[in-house]
Amino acid sequence: MKGELSNRINSLPASATLTMAAKARDLKNQGFNVIGLSLGEPDFNTPDFIKEAAVQAVNDNYNSYTPVDGYGELKEAICKKFKRDNHLDYSPSQIVVSTGAKQSIANAIQVLINPGDDVLLVAPYWVSYSAIVVLAEGNPIEIYSDIKTDFKITPEQLEKAITRKTKMVVINSPNNPSGSVYTEDEYRSLAAVLEKYPDIYILSDEIYEHINYGVPHFSFAKIPSMYDRTLTVNGVAKAFAMTGWRIGYLGAPERIAKACTKMQGQTTSGANCIAQRATITALEAPVSKIQYMVDEFATRRERIIALLGTIEGFVLNHPKGAFYVFPDISHYFRKTIKGKTIENSSDFALYLLEEAHVATVSGEAFGCPNNIRISYAASMDDIEEAVKRIQQALT
Ligand code: GLU
Repeated sequence: MKGELSNRINSLPASATLTMAAKARDLKNQGFNVIGLSLGEPDFNTPDFIKEAAVQAVNDNYNSYTPVDGYGELKEAICKKFKRDNHLDYSPSQIVVSTGAKQSIANAIQVLINPGDDVLLVAPYWVSYSAIVVLAEGNPIEIYSDIKTDFKITPEQLEKAITRKTKMVVINSPNNPSGSVYTEDEYRSLAAVLEKYPDIYILSDEIYEHINYGVPHFSFAKIPSMYDRTLTVNGVAKAFAMTGWRIGYLGAPERIAKACTKMQGQTTSGANCIAQRATITALEAPVSKIQYMVDEFATRRERIIALLGTIEGFVLNHPKGAFYVFPDISHYFRKTIKGKTIENSSDFALYLLEEAHVATVSGEAFGCPNNIRISYAASMDDIEEAVKRIQQALT
């Protein structure tokens, strides 16, 4: 029925990552042997010590609404984590716990962006940033980086993109989908540009912090001149294999944290009580407890890069963090393979799904139409079989 749904939802693109995962699931349910490399989701089980904390919380009757901004003990644990891992001083009044880092990001953008404000996104960027900005009636403005600069932007590029309309810059290191990690020096040189524009906020998405293969993680808010206008987002999904538990959090200037709490109080209220209790245990544990997963991702990274490197037309980056490779596959554009013509990266990803039964995500949704994203948060057997099938499908 025309006009039934709002213009807002009609113009909203579906999440490309979740759509591809759903397509793969559908094919699997039809009996096809699909290998899912589309979703950024660790294939490990949540560690036992965290599961036990959740069971304990159930038995201890944690069943009521939580404070909208999260349990006080959890906010204390988050402050300690920020201090221990990031050398950041936040007090509990600056913390808001949300239903996944995605909600932390959505809250932050909703409370800071007015219609017509520009938000700078560094392409490639995670698919939902631009949609969330559009929902707030802001304008997502892309700054392009490519494989030649390891998918990172220079201070000159940042300066050139800033206008009087710029309200926020979203940064993300380790990056989804490129895996690039900004060094402290690189971040300091971007901060030097932002120092000239005191009205611009920085949203620093650090959800892949611990999935890092060597370049030390550096939190943007650690730069003293940036602290008062940086919103630091993190969560437990990726590092602790807790994607479905849906716990993210944000550290921000107190007035912004309060605004996020108000927003959340009118939309979802506090995050799940059991998951919050389990998150206290996760964050209080030494980081060494999850190193086995990071080590395994590192091994898989080497293997998938070596294997994909043997496929004609794949131009590869060498990710330093997260669990994705983001090859340029534009070599295949305007070519017909097994009767199917590939015009763009969406066609390419669809071709791999239909022909090889391997799910990936088109680079278009990440602002890089020459690439596809392949997640290696999958077993080594699946990675090897997937690459073999991709190779066969392309020859
Ligand atoms: N962030 C993950 C990804 O990029 C999970 C799916 C999503 O929320 O986009 O695959």
